[in-house]
Amino acid sequence: MLCEKEMSSLPSSSDSDGVRSFWKFIWYLKVPNKVKVFIWRACSRALPTKENLKKRKVVDSSVFDQCGCLQEDEIHAIWDCVQVCVEWESSCADVRNKYLTVKNMWDLVSIMKAEGKNMEVFVMSAWLIWMRRNKLRSNEATQPCSRIAQLASSMLAEFQQGKQRRVAGVQVGLVRWQPPAENSIKANFDGVVFGEEQEAGIGVVLRDCEGQVLAAL
Ligand SMILES: [Zn+2]
Repeated sequence: MLCEKEMSSLPSSSDSDGVRSFWKFIWYLKVPNKVKVFIWRACSRALPTKENLKKRKVVDSSVFDQCGCLQEDEIHAIWDCVQVCVEWESSCADVRNKYLTVKNMWDLVSIMKAEGKNMEVFVMSAWLIWMRRNKLRSNEATQPCSRIAQLASSMLAEFQQGKQRRVAGVQVGLVRWQPPAENSIKANFDGVVFGEEQEAGIGVVLRDCEGQVLAAL
């Protein structure tokens, strides 16, 4: 009951002021732009999870490869799954004990913020967990979950000191998303290819001139 009461005070995704301040908070986090886009997509339920790929008929099954769970959605892959619990049990045991079930990533971000967690470290850790998940799917070598908190902190320190690595000649993290002109809509998209299924998926998000998400496909 305590958790339900506390949850009711979190910003709702149906409250326009709450939505606006939520996205504004995300965009002003001091993390690389790609991490902001990731957490925004996770909160918009627009990541290429097995559940989303199944909805788009890209794959036949929504079973999460890492644990065999019947449905892989964002909150399961990043927070709930036993495969990623090691990381969160060490850094966020208090939140896990207080909030036994968390509905989605929007609520999780809101809870972390309300609990006064270091949000840069949190979103960076969540991004590393998602990257680890993608590498496992591609049979690439990965770091153990127990190293993610340490890795997140060191990557964040490197980024915030302006020493972000250059990838393919482009300096990552210094490009800020710009909203479209008034009365216009901007579409951003990202794709993923799964060699195993020889299939590809694409995610699209539409935003207005204030950066507010109008639709995620
Ligand atoms: Zn799982």
